[in-house]
Amino acid sequence: MIYRLFNYLFFILLGVSAGYFLPHGMGRWQGVCVGIFAVSVFLFLYDTWQTLRFLNWLKATDILQSPDQSGLWGEAADRVRRLIKQRDSELNASQESLRQFLSAIQASPNGVVLLDSEWHIVWSNRTATLHLGIDPDRDVKQLIAFLLRNPVFNSYVRSGLFEKEIVIVGRNNRADHPQKIAVQIFPYGDGRKLLLSRDITALEQAEVMRRDFVANVSHEIRTPLTVLVGFVETMQTLSLSASENQTYLQLMSQQAFRMQTLVQDLLTLSHLEGSPMPGNSEWHDFKQLWNSCHDEAKALLEALNLKNGLMLNLVFEIPEALIGYEISGSSEEIKSAFSNLVSNAIRYTPSGEHVKVSWMQKDETFEFSVVDTGTGIAPEHLSRLTERFYRVDRSRSRDTGGTGLGLAIVKHVMQRHGGQLRIESKLSRGSNFVLVFPQSRLRRKLV
Ligand code: ADP
Repeated sequence: MIYRLFNYLFFILLGVSAGYFLPHGMGRWQGVCVGIFAVSVFLFLYDTWQTLRFLNWLKATDILQSPDQSGLWGEAADRVRRLIKQRDSELNASQESLRQFLSAIQASPNGVVLLDSEWHIVWSNRTATLHLGIDPDRDVKQLIAFLLRNPVFNSYVRSGLFEKEIVIVGRNNRADHPQKIAVQIFPYGDGRKLLLSRDITALEQAEVMRRDFVANVSHEIRTPLTVLVGFVETMQTLSLSASENQTYLQLMSQQAFRMQTLVQDLLTLSHLEGSPMPGNSEWHDFKQLWNSCHDEAKALLEALNLKNGLMLNLVFEIPEALIGYEISGSSEEIKSAFSNLVSNAIRYTPSGEHVKVSWMQKDETFEFSVVDTGTGIAPEHLSRLTERFYRVDRSRSRDTGGTGLGLAIVKHVMQRHGGQLRIESKLSRGSNFVLVFPQSRLRRKLV
């Protein structure tokens, strides 16, 4: 500023001296006035020129490039430039935090929709698209109720009571693939709303399964219990002969045994669900498992032979090379998977037919296979066989002591051992149930 003042005074002095000393036709004081006037015009033009340069620089596309100006105008331009630079970096920083914040909301497993006070969509994430079909670009400024067109949601909005969530059908809901979405609104700010959505299809399905399971268990226990109570009442009220008593006791024992088997299978299932996966640290002699499965099968066949006169051609086949092997995991679980399959084959194969149990090594796997030439299973039942209490032939299953839980147990056991259950069957031709074990579960016995 002082420099500018000196500058100004210097030029005035120069004009005054020039007007006073230079020879010309007018008087000295007139010369001084002309000198001052000329200098003022010069300074005015100079300042205007500098102002125009400054304005041009302000209009320039790259304002961060310093203007070629000095003095006060240069200083002003430099300050403006620094201010703009500072604002720019502040803006960048806040844009970056906004971007990170939005990408965090994008990653959320919940659908998020921001709504203005008039229920127009302001912003939504990708999950909201999956749940509610909202397009984050196309549907901005659209009325949410207009987009969802869901009567339950509309009355929720009209009620204004948002303490609880509501459940609506999802955008991808189909008969074979139901989708249930929980939606809740959270008002905030001046009338704005945050809408959160959650896919609760799996939860709902689990709840339905739980209810079905309880109903099935109650039904399975009630039937033998009713028979048992009936016999007890009969024996209490009627005077029966010794042989009648014996028959009734025999029937009662059968029903009690049925309930016992059911409870045993339920406990096995709950143990399979609740206990840690069997590791690879415990190794068991495969031959022992094989022999115990063989002995159990023989005993069952003999029992059914005595009871129903069942005659089967039962064969156990294991290659010599696979005898000296060990298997890792839970021997109890593996034994129960083997005997479930063998017992099913014996129970669902009519007299005169064949059941072959074999153990073989494939490329990357070991397979326990039970082939029978029994009743076979129609294709529509195959995918449901491992569901709890699913039976193709209910009365045959019950008559032969089935609980409807055997294959569910087998499937669980195999999953826990990193293997799988494969089922191939043709109605009236027979079935092949295969337990596929990964190679890592078997090794040659250490000597
Ligand atoms: P269950 O105790 O009734 O045998 P499972 O879970 O072991 O229950 O089997 C489910 C159903 O699968 C059985 O009720 C039966 O209808 C069918 N099934 C299982 N194994 C065979 C087989 N080898 N041959 C024909 N049907 C079978």
